[in-house]
Amino acid sequence: YNINKIRNFSIIAHIDHGKSTLADRILEFTGAVTDREMKQQFLDQMDIERERGITIKAQTVRLKYKALNGEEYILNLIDTPGHVDFSYEVSRSLAACEGALLVVDASQGVEAQTLANCYLAIENDLEIIPVLNKIDLPSADPERVKQEIEEVIGLDAQDAILASAKEGIGTQEILEAVVHQIPAPTGDPEAPLQALIFDSWFDPYQGVVVLVRIVNGTLKPDMKIRMMASGNTYEVGSVGIFTPTLKKTDSLQAGEVGFITAAIKQVRDVQIGDTITEEKRPALKPLPGFKPVKSMVFCGLYPVDSGQYEQLKEAVEKLWLNDPAFSYEPEQSAALGFGFRCGFLGLLHMEIVKERLEREFELTLLSTAPSVSYKVLLKDGSTIYVQNPAQMPPQEKIECIMEPRVRMEIYVPRAYVGPVMGLCDEKRGKQLDMKYLSQDRVLLTYELPFNEIVLDFYDKLKSVTRGYASIDYELTDYKPAEMVKMDILINKVPVDALSIIVHKDKAYYRGRELVSKLRSVIPRQLFEVVIQAAIGSRVIARERVAPLRKDVTAKCYGGDITRKRKLLEKQKEGKKRMKQVGRVEIPQEAFLSVLKTD
Ligand code: GDP
Ligand code: MG
Repeated sequence: YNINKIRNFSIIAHIDHGKSTLADRILEFTGAVTDREMKQQFLDQMDIERERGITIKAQTVRLKYKALNGEEYILNLIDTPGHVDFSYEVSRSLAACEGALLVVDASQGVEAQTLANCYLAIENDLEIIPVLNKIDLPSADPERVKQEIEEVIGLDAQDAILASAKEGIGTQEILEAVVHQIPAPTGDPEAPLQALIFDSWFDPYQGVVVLVRIVNGTLKPDMKIRMMASGNTYEVGSVGIFTPTLKKTDSLQAGEVGFITAAIKQVRDVQIGDTITEEKRPALKPLPGFKPVKSMVFCGLYPVDSGQYEQLKEAVEKLWLNDPAFSYEPEQSAALGFGFRCGFLGLLHMEIVKERLEREFELTLLSTAPSVSYKVLLKDGSTIYVQNPAQMPPQEKIECIMEPRVRMEIYVPRAYVGPVMGLCDEKRGKQLDMKYLSQDRVLLTYELPFNEIVLDFYDKLKSVTRGYASIDYELTDYKPAEMVKMDILINKVPVDALSIIVHKDKAYYRGRELVSKLRSVIPRQLFEVVIQAAIGSRVIARERVAPLRKDVTAKCYGGDITRKRKLLEKQKEGKKRMKQVGRVEIPQEAFLSVLKTD
């Protein structure tokens, strides 16, 4: 152990700029993984992450690097989550480092996530090494991108390393820069223990594995430890490093990064950003930067088959134990029966959790449209938070509804500035700033209602910019807004799970749109179905689905039996996500149709 020979760093990049590919090259170059072990993109481990090409858990690996000066260094490469939903986790992973490689695609330039991550790195006082990746591409324009880095981030980029992670160009130069430009950690292995928790997960063999950066002191097996924010105490089972597989060691000392296990039963007991100290010789203060996690986006989850309620209950309980960012409470819907109102960090987190519940617990779920949390000031002087539109109190009890707002940065080629501004206007945005980054690229800053983003902002932005825009946002505060609750009635019966909260000025339009969407997704039934949108007792839109006897096999003339069976199976398949509401069968699509506006 020689603290001066340790370098802790991470790679920050906008999605697809080559972070994982570069990490692979570095692992290869330092011989951390042999060819046989070498799975492409080693650091993205979970199935869902691999499939989606994103990282949602910080991964870390210890490497040995013999530098050109003949000295051997220990490098800890910490891979950070790559999505705006997980920016708190990113910031804690970065707090475990002294430096970061800023990877920018030389054919694209600075994008929203580049800047957002860069700010997090700067806040954590990291030494930043710019790397221009993909220089093998004919469209690479390193000079322009250098200029962008300087103008937008204010970072000297003249000595940026030119690299191609794909072709292995620049890998050694990057490692040399890591060794010479990033400072060694400081910290005293004899001081009272302060270890930063920056990630944790459940391992079927080890129990909960906690990723830590030792800032001061030394962690050893059998030590009695305390987590300073939660107050939980444990006895350390094992400590060790990632090579990249878990390898036990005798201790972890100041400056080092590694894992501990401590017979911790569930991930929920470990809070990211918390500080571990020694029970008998505690540190005076926890490390800075701890924040409890908070759900931002909510939706109702219901089993399609109400017989699966107990299974769903078990599944959400299990998931809750191992995902501290996930919250839930039982919810009852007149339309959907028993289910849960679940809270997530953001839309991606929501998608991942839903996918996991269905995949790992073999459930078929129906989800309501996502909603944000409204702060509602009531006439009786109290304040409540409403996460389920169906639970919005009646208008006459409400003094004021406040909606959460975000500050958003949008990077876009000049040609699309007009459409983007149009979209932001339509979404009740307020422009805060507009900056030309280069002749062709513009940075727009807006304040926008969070519920508009949850609704369909991404999809629309993508379509008006042909995918050329990138965005990042953070929640700022609550502001009063004239929101109303809109109910959907099917054959005169309000379907609580279809209620939405919408801005007064958009209610008519949205009501009409929603009702016509519903008409198109609700299959014809044996009787007439009338769909209405209403605000309070006032109906603002109405459509009907004409009755029809739907006999799919009628076409078969009784002839081909296999074809007949196929059709029936197909119909059964289609029914899987139908929910009987009163006498009417409503498909899953209907509950999400509020999201798909055009
Ligand atoms: P990440 O999202 O930042 O982790 O990006 P990935 O490492 O997954 O890379 C995104 C895409 O860019 C993949 O298709 C890579 O093969 C490709 N890529 C990465 N580095 C290079 C490079 O240096 N040159 C070229 N041409 N493609 C690259
Ligand atoms: Mg990646």
